[in-house]
Amino acid sequence: MLAKRMERLGTETAFVVLARAKALEAEGQDIVHLEIGEPDFDTPTNIIDKAIEALRGGYTHYGPAAGLPDVRKVFAEYIARDRGIGVGPQNIVVVPGGKPIIYYTLTALVDEGDEVIYPNPGFPIYESVINFLGARAVPLRLAEENAFSFSVEDLAARISDKTKMLILNSPQNPTGGVLSADDMDAIAELAVKHDFWVLADEIYSKIIYEGKHESISTRPGMLERTILLDGHSKTYAMTGWRLGFGVMPVALAEMVSKLQTNCTSCTASFTQVAGAEAFVGPQEAARAMVAEFRARRDLLVDGLNAIDGITCLRPKGAFYVFPNISALGLKAKEAETRLLENFGVAALAGTSFGKYGEGYLRFSYANSQANIRKALERVAGFAASER
Ligand code: PLP
Repeated sequence: MLAKRMERLGTETAFVVLARAKALEAEGQDIVHLEIGEPDFDTPTNIIDKAIEALRGGYTHYGPAAGLPDVRKVFAEYIARDRGIGVGPQNIVVVPGGKPIIYYTLTALVDEGDEVIYPNPGFPIYESVINFLGARAVPLRLAEENAFSFSVEDLAARISDKTKMLILNSPQNPTGGVLSADDMDAIAELAVKHDFWVLADEIYSKIIYEGKHESISTRPGMLERTILLDGHSKTYAMTGWRLGFGVMPVALAEMVSKLQTNCTSCTASFTQVAGAEAFVGPQEAARAMVAEFRARRDLLVDGLNAIDGITCLRPKGAFYVFPNISALGLKAKEAETRLLENFGVAALAGTSFGKYGEGYLRFSYANSQANIRKALERVAGFAASER
């Protein structure tokens, strides 16, 4: 008999669809993979070389729970420079991927019965962990008519005296939406006034096509109530390395390190050394990836909008599109299944990201332009069969 709390734990269905797509491939079907949120590029060679050098140089041992001191210093300098905030190594906790920061900081801060406001549709792990901890998950709807953002009034209406935290994600998964400077100002004012934490998931901060990335941590009164989540998975195509970090007030960093001691002890040492190289070394490869993502975005958005029954906004960031398929008259989950089983395109139902994702699909464009063209032909065939 499992513990009761396991009934409240959600998951990420991208991995479930990926497994089904692989099973179909093993049976001989040709599948275009647009389901998983991982760059199809290789990690830049300077980072790989540094990891090999680190392995040969003895970075094969346990390190401190919060991360290697030199690596924390490089990460802190990067964030201080990039976001323009006054943080040091003591504010950094290095973790295996960006994801553990969500689990660790919610565990450290949120009691049963506390309320956490989170984006819906949004990265499914937010809702899953909030529920798992026995807190109340309060969805903040991201609507297509607001370019997948929310109004300050929407947010204000969800704040109560039990609100402990707001989760922000910009650029956003699954919609590609980006919050503006004005949004950040207004949200920060509410956070200070109502005294809640903000978990700012900025994992896509470098994958942005228009305007500049805004971090709420720069707003007055926010540094002491913000947890900034960042990591190497998306920017440097390092998903399998498992490397990310959180930036937070020192007292919280100490508690998060303690949780890390209880779970993983530390992040792999040679991986951390390679992660420091990512920030100090050449950035051309990372920039070239973003340029290619932009071309793919335009190809996919234009192609989807040319299909009868599908409309798609042009996202400003991340590498996802979130087309509206409601005119086709079927549930998002059914569309996901039919697209995969009958048309060989792996995509995710919008509802994989929460109830407000009904009527949408998420396509990740972390795949070649040739494969995106192939997928578009197949999606057109699928749409025609539904009309
Ligand atoms: N946050 C968001 C919004 C994501 O989309 C993802 C990965 O898909 C993560 C966090 C986790 O990233 P990582 O693979 O570094 O744990």
